[in-house]
Amino acid sequence: MNQVIRCKNCDEIFMKTPFDQYPEYEWGSDRSLENFRCIERDDFQEFLIHHHGHRLENLKIIEDSFTSDKVYSEPIKTSFYKATNGKEKFVIKKFREKIDEPLKYQLIPGDYSLKCTAIEIQSEEISKQLKRELKPPLPQNKIDAFLKLYHAIAEDIDIKDLERIPEESHHPLEVYYKIDDIRLMYLLRNCRNIFKGQEYSAMEEFIHRHKDDGVLLLKATYKIQLTEIAKPSKKVISSPLPLEKEKIIEKK
Ligand SMILES: [Zn+2]
Repeated sequence: MNQVIRCKNCDEIFMKTPFDQYPEYEWGSDRSLENFRCIERDDFQEFLIHHHGHRLENLKIIEDSFTSDKVYSEPIKTSFYKATNGKEKFVIKKFREKIDEPLKYQLIPGDYSLKCTAIEIQSEEISKQLKRELKPPLPQNKIDAFLKLYHAIAEDIDIKDLERIPEESHHPLEVYYKIDDIRLMYLLRNCRNIFKGQEYSAMEEFIHRHKDDGVLLLKATYKIQLTEIAKPSKKVISSPLPLEKEKIIEKK
């Protein structure tokens, strides 16, 4: 686990990873072995020198608090962790602007939360899957009618009512959910208005096949909301109010 050191004076942090002490090797221009030199680096030593005489403390990263604005595999992204010193909350922002730049860390006093901004059905995937699985194929107007029905149901859902499907997404802000039983019944009942006989049976089977881990999962999109706590300015000088009060009392 990474160790996070915070300078309380500067509000700067150092992420102490095993890598900060690895030496860096550099080839000379002629690439001969004599010119192969090792540059000793110890970033933590640099941090300690820079913050000499300042008050340092350890921060603890809150477990499972990682989130990011892009897919996990994307190298240029902004990620966030929650951390604490036991009393105050912090958000650690980790980012890089270019692929060849080192990662930068910024400490933000405060917290973050995730806000659900949309719940969508996977229209394209449902349509493709229906065409692949249903024989004889459904006419396009019936596929469209089903998508319209399912979309209307999804539009009306509160995310709190749904069961989250773990490990389905590669994007931290895109989460998949299973449709709840009441809405599933509603979907099936309304399908009877679109599909008849054999077609209805095929659709019923399709829905049961895909509701738990397939194309009928609902996709929720989240947004990271940072709540930054303004750093209190130097200690407030005691207010002159009590003195004035005393004066008023004296006048009486
Ligand atoms: Zn400092």
